Amino acid sequence: MIKFKSTREIQLMKESGKVVAEALHEMGRAIDIGVTTGKLDKIAEKCIRKHGGEPAFLGYHNFPASICASINNEVVHGIPGLRRLQEGDIISIDVGVRLNGYYGDAAATFSVGRISEEARKLIDVTRNSLYKAIEAMQSGKRLSDLSYAVQSYVESYSFSVVRSYVGHGIGEDMHEDPQVPNFGPPGRGPLLQPGIVLAIEPMVNSGSWEVEVMNDQWTVVTSDGSLSAHFEHTVALGENGPEVLTSPQQS
Ligand code: MG
Repeated sequence: MIKFKSTREIQLMKESGKVVAEALHEMGRAIDIGVTTGKLDKIAEKCIRKHGGEPAFLGYHNFPASICASINNEVVHGIPGLRRLQEGDIISIDVGVRLNGYYGDAAATFSVGRISEEARKLIDVTRNSLYKAIEAMQSGKRLSDLSYAVQSYVESYSFSVVRSYVGHGIGEDMHEDPQVPNFGPPGRGPLLQPGIVLAIEPMVNSGSWEVEVMNDQWTVVTSDGSLSAHFEHTVALGENGPEVLTSPQQS
């Protein structure tokens, strides 16, 4: 069942969203050749706690860190640690915050030093596909109009959309109904109405859409070893259209 949020609840979610955005921004500034993913995790945790929030991922199904850090062929759920970033890497960072009883969730893919033309294009297309979905999030449209917006855009660049992991509703729980797939035909699923809040998160591979989970039971990688990128925002549908709650420009 979809839990629609009141204006007051969306206001509270903006607070957690702002902390998510700030943590991502601080990590983005710290990303450099030689920096460990564990260091980025510490930066995020410190930022979240400074604002009175709790890292939402830490301890979630026993996940050991505050961020997911997924490099190159890793899609999502990479565990931060001693691995050092190298020139040419791309790193997807996902971070969630619980504050005042409400969650915020966002992700972005960053480049390390000079990256390949293909990696640059993958990052740009994945970011743009998220904004295609946000544009499609309008009252009267249906949920799968978002899914279709992502898939049709991504595939027009000959990249592929991950099927096994999807976006989600978000609020007092990190994962609420509905699931938000990044693929599928338009015009299906629940009607979008003011008060719905979604974590929209396209995961895009430069090769095939197929993925597998590594032996650590967390890290999801592309089956063919191709690169993957991931962007996510928590977005509320208001009376005046979609509003990104995890945008760094929030006032
Ligand atoms: Mg999410």
